[in-house]
Amino acid sequence: MRVLIAMMKHETNTFSPVPTDLGRFQSWLYCTGQKVLDDLGGTNTPTGAYIDNARKRGCEMVTPIATEAMPSGPVQRDVYEHMVETILAPLKAQTFDAALLDLHGAMVAEHEPDGEGGLLSRIREVQPDLPIAVTLDLHCNLTQRMVDNCTMMIGFKTYPHVDMYDVGDQIAELLFRTLEGRIKPVMAWGNRPVLAQTLRMGSDDAPMAGLQAMTRDLERNGLLAVTFFGGFPMADIADAGISAVVVTDNDHQAASSACQALLDSAWGSRSEFVYHGRPLEAAVQEAGQHTEGPVLLLDHADNVGSGGTADVMEVIREVYRQGLDDVAVGAVWDPEAVQMMRETGLGNSVSIALGGRSDMPSIGRTGEPFHVQGRVVSLTDGSWTVEGPMYTGVRVSTGPTAVLDTGRMRIVVVSYHHEPWDTGIFSNNGIEPARCRYLLLKSRIHYRAGFGPLARATIPCDGYGVTTSRYDQLTYDNLRRPIYPLDPVPTV
Ligand SMILES: [Zn+2]
Repeated sequence: MRVLIAMMKHETNTFSPVPTDLGRFQSWLYCTGQKVLDDLGGTNTPTGAYIDNARKRGCEMVTPIATEAMPSGPVQRDVYEHMVETILAPLKAQTFDAALLDLHGAMVAEHEPDGEGGLLSRIREVQPDLPIAVTLDLHCNLTQRMVDNCTMMIGFKTYPHVDMYDVGDQIAELLFRTLEGRIKPVMAWGNRPVLAQTLRMGSDDAPMAGLQAMTRDLERNGLLAVTFFGGFPMADIADAGISAVVVTDNDHQAASSACQALLDSAWGSRSEFVYHGRPLEAAVQEAGQHTEGPVLLLDHADNVGSGGTADVMEVIREVYRQGLDDVAVGAVWDPEAVQMMRETGLGNSVSIALGGRSDMPSIGRTGEPFHVQGRVVSLTDGSWTVEGPMYTGVRVSTGPTAVLDTGRMRIVVVSYHHEPWDTGIFSNNGIEPARCRYLLLKSRIHYRAGFGPLARATIPCDGYGVTTSRYDQLTYDNLRRPIYPLDPVPTV
């Protein structure tokens, strides 16, 4: 049996000024051919599960590409075409028994608002009857075209996404049972006009915890794969928002009614998907009252894992101004500052205009660097292998990396964007996070994977940036309307 295994992932923030070129994929995850098996076999990813399942059954595996970029602006046209054509090439050359795809569901290319729907429909043009199983991220913006052009799909149930392998394993098992003629999968899907906020999608919190408990109950009761998607709101496309998809064994009625029940429940909880912030000064004052750490300070409006530029200095500036002590910051993106610190040399002092490199026209902001003095206390190549629960076993890199110690604050400065979901961002750079009083993280929910167990308290700090939870700062031109909470929406 010959199977195609491929990964093509990006969560596109259409408001982000960070360009998504080939280098953006290469600096996070990009491998082809045998290297896909070498690098992703045994990792906590859907692709890792696909490889195990295919190997177990003695399949011939063809692995044209596995690639992912950190979230950022629309994928450049030629890069999207390169990835799609790389996946299509083996399908044009020979027939396959099945394809197992590791996708995100919120990829927007410059010329294609539905990146995954575009890929799947082009695969079906080449091999119309090919059985295709797909895994998607919890932040997928599901479309009719995606559903129409695959055999079955499933999404992550957790945020932080610690169940990547499990969902890959589940859908791979279902695909092989289909090939053996033991089941006949059918799908039902739907959505509701709710633009849920990412900060309110943590799977340990209401309303997501209850919704994901429903999906698990439905699976326990015999449905094959049940998914509720929170969606990705930083995408100005028609289909952004919450959705659900259910796979059953040839039971359209059960699929449809489970899907509607999930969506009805989510619609009833819609107000809980809205984050209510408070002034930054008050949040940092509250942090200052804590005597025991680590206290996590979340700079969530500049969250790299949703397309943030990671060089907005507003929260850092306020924490510095209020004089909080023993703060570790993970991480500021500023390759030029890293270069300057390398030239300064380990142990030496430097005065620097840190961060603020990026202008953000979508929210009417220009970059504002933070002028600060400090000592260079660490210089590394920024690479480590993740031991924490998310992306376990994957080799990650923040590129040339340096730590600036201002006395009260140690700031990790990186050359590649990276959301701090693993403690390696600190421990790899000479900082022991468990011993810090404050950890200032440019993260929203994924930090919980690595830092949740360490946290004595967690305080969201509302700065600005292109991952803001303030919808009134964003202009949506293509999103379907009306949609809650942007508009009054009649009960659906
Ligand atoms: Zn996600």
